[in-house]
Formats: sequence, structure tokens, C-alpha cells
Amino acid sequence: MSFDYDLFVIGGGSGGVRAARVAAGETGAKVALAEEDRYGGTCVIRGCVPKKLMVFASEYPGMVDEARAYGWDMSNSGFDWGVFRVKMHAELDRLEGIYRNILKNNGVETFDLRARLVDAHTVELADGTRHSAKHILIAAGGRPVKPEVPGAELGITSNEIFHLDKLPESILIVGGGYIACEFAGILNGLGVKVTQYYRGAQILRGFDDEARGLVCEEMCQNGIDVHLGTNVLEMTQEGDAIRVKATNGDNRLFDQVMFATGRVPNADDLGLEGLEGVERGRKGQIVVDEYSQTGVPSVYAIGDVTDRVNLTPVAIREGMAFVETVFRGNPTPVDHELIPTAIFTQPEMGTVGLSEEDAAEQEPIEVYATSFKPMQSAFAGKSDRVLMKLLVSRETRKVLGCHIVAPGAGEMIQLAGIAIRMGATKEDFDRTVAVHPTMSEEIVTMKTATRTA
Ligand code: NDP
Repeated sequence: MSFDYDLFVIGGGSGGVRAARVAAGETGAKVALAEEDRYGGTCVIRGCVPKKLMVFASEYPGMVDEARAYGWDMSNSGFDWGVFRVKMHAELDRLEGIYRNILKNNGVETFDLRARLVDAHTVELADGTRHSAKHILIAAGGRPVKPEVPGAELGITSNEIFHLDKLPESILIVGGGYIACEFAGILNGLGVKVTQYYRGAQILRGFDDEARGLVCEEMCQNGIDVHLGTNVLEMTQEGDAIRVKATNGDNRLFDQVMFATGRVPNADDLGLEGLEGVERGRKGQIVVDEYSQTGVPSVYAIGDVTDRVNLTPVAIREGMAFVETVFRGNPTPVDHELIPTAIFTQPEMGTVGLSEEDAAEQEPIEVYATSFKPMQSAFAGKSDRVLMKLLVSRETRKVLGCHIVAPGAGEMIQLAGIAIRMGATKEDFDRTVAVHPTMSEEIVTMKTATRTA
């Protein structure tokens, strides 16, 4: 049976673009890709990239304060959101152009249209045209969701935050995950009065307790008004502001409310309902096996639409493994263990492996942890603290988890991740000579266990 294409990819985000370009450019497959919105997906257009630029922008006021303490004659006369926003979007346009070019240069045919499946080998575009393909890869990503509280439509999500005409004077951020905590820090740094409501007992659920406790303390220290065990009851418009009634009895006005209350897979209206064999999970995600294959052998899915580990580099890995499996005949499962990740709060948290709580549940462990005031900010009279923490198996001596809360923790954890991935023991860390004077040297100089668990 002959098909129009060897591969049709639905979705031009990090995972879809990578799979399309490698399949076409490196294996010679005939590939098409459909994207209804902008190329680059969540990461490039409304996620990691603009977020990180905003993190950078938000850190300068602190640097100016610190520079003054070091003897510099510096002043901070304010932030111009308009200037920054124009530059940020110009950068996103540039990156989108690069994504488009990558596809073009690798011979991928692109359609700027929404696509849905008609059957196991046919895709229909929004203009009604149909294309057949030997394999179909769904990489449609995810989107933010708001909770069902009265007036929720008055709030925005991370999709809109990059497009504000002006920065609000005050904002309420709802949620306690990556996005809520990162934007609390960003907007606080940019001079917005930030309040954060999180329904649970401590932000960043699932991460190491001690690490997230320190992040929360430092966020409060930096001026973010964090309310734990608190949620929105209802929201109403009052002039230009939004009145929010909360479960803690608060009844306050905010210029803006941002929900960072989780994301759901973009798996609806893709024609999957009519395709017997494609299973959907509790959140609506497309269920796949370790090779990213659905119950229909010709249909695969990668990235956030499968709701496995929702991170850009993971979607890229899944895309590469898919090409290796399907187009190079080398079945390659994706290993979702020991993925290093960073949360760009202020201070950052870098983490790989198990939290203390999970490690202790798994087996007897030793905990090595040190928290201290780093030299750079301590000299400037700041009370910022950082944390370096290793969790070690008492039986194998392997490092099961590493958690760093510190400026630059994202950069540090990438490197620690290699050692831990290789199965490094505590003694391997100890044998490594310290790089002095740095914060991260503490990771190789913790001689005695803080506690056992
Ligand atoms: P998360 O799932 O991480 O967090 C959602 C938060 O919203 C949780 O604190 C959750 O509370 C809370 N929540 C959920 N439903 C409600 C509700 N009805 N009312 C009140 N609060 C609610 O989602 P995010 O949106 O922060 O991020 C999505 C994913 O994107 C992340 O998991 C991560 O994979 C990825 N990401 C990665 C980044 C990075 O690598 N630096 C940055 C940003 C995103 P509870 O804990 O009680 O469930």
C-alpha cells in the first residue's frame, strides 16, 4: 500500500519538530507536519523561553542592590515592561523562524493548519484536504486549565502573561506548582505586588520537603505574600480590579489574577474518538507504551499530550526514540528515570532523583544536607540561604537524589545529574576535589550524615 508520506506529525512544538526533522533529514523519510498555531510550541512561544527571559529581567533589581553593597554607584530607576516585551516577542519571532527553517531545510512539508485523524493512516486538515501516511505522530502538547470557581474567566493563565499591555500593580497567583512559583518570583522581581494562594500545606508538592520549604521561606523573605492552605472561592469584577474571596477569609482586590493550576493534554478533537484502539487516560492523555506507540500500531504520541513527564527535553527524547524505533529499526524505549530538572524560582531549585521522603520509603538512607549563607549575597548583607543535599543508599552507597536550592541551581544540577545517572556513590562525590570558593563545592565536602532515615 502506498502512502502520501512516511510520517505525518501533528504539532510543531519541541517534540514534533525534532521527530519530523530527524526522520526527514537523517533517515530520508518523506515527512509532513501540521501546526495550527505558532512553531516552537509551548516551550518557545509561551513557556520556557519567554519565562526564562522574564526570570533574567526580574533579577536585575536584586543585582543593583547587591552591586551597591559592593561599592558600585548604581541606581535602579525602574523597569519598562513595554521595551522588554517588544524585545522578548522579537526574540520569539526569531526563534519561530529558526524552527520553520529547520523543517524546511530538512525537507519537511509543513501545513499551517489544524489536523485530525480520520483513520489509522489518514489525516484531515482544517481546509478539508486529506493526506495518508504510513505512520502518524501526535505531538499536540498541552494547555493550562482554570479551576471551576465562579468568576474564573476574569483570571488569566501563563498563556496570557507574556502579552500584558502593562504590568499590574498587584497580582494574585493561584497554584503551588512550577509555573505558579516561578511567576511569583518573576513578577515580584519586576516590582509587582505578588500574593500567592496554594491549597496545600507546602508549595511544590512532590519535591523534597526540605528543599521546597527553603524555597518557600526565601520567596516570603523576598516579599511574596504566600498563603498556604488557601484557595479562591469566587471572583467578581470591581471597576478595573478583581475582588477575590478566599477560603482563609480574605476578601481583597487585585489588579490581575493568574491561575497556574495545572495543564491538560491537547488530545480532544483529534479524531481519536472514532479510532478504535487509542486509549485515553484520566486526564484525557493519549496512552502509549514505552515506545510511544498507541493501541493503533501506526499511531504514536509523544510529549505533553501523553502526560508522562511534561518537560521539553523529555518530549525531544521521546521524539528521537520514536525515530530510532520506527525509522531506524532499533526499538528504543524512553527512560523516564533520573531526569534532572530545575524550577526557576528565586532562588532556583535543581533536583535529580528521589526526594528524602521517597528515598526513605524505598530503603534505609543517609541524608547529607547543608544550608548556609552564600558568600556573594552575605557580603552584601543579605540573609539569603542556600541548600545542598544528597540522599545516599545505606546499602549500595549510591546517591539516590540530589537537591540544590541556590542561585544557578539549574546549571549545577545538570552536571550532578550526569554523575548520579552513572550510578555515583557518596564516596565518588567525596573523592572529587572541591572547586573553591564556590557554593557547589559543598556537594563534595559533606563528610558526616546529617541524619539517617
Ligand atoms: P503543576 O501540576 O505543577 O501544578 C499545579 C498547581 O495547581 C498545584 O500546586 C496544584 O495543587 C494546583 N491546583 C490544581 N488544581 C487546582 C484547583 N482546582 N484549585 C487550586 N489549585 C489547584 O502545574 P503547572 O501548571 O505549574 O505546570 C505544569 C507542568 O509544566 C509542570 O508539572 C512541569 O512538568 C512543566 N513545567 C516545567 C517547568 C520547568 O521545567 N522549569 C516550568 C513550568 C512548567 P496540588 O499540589 O494540591 O495538586
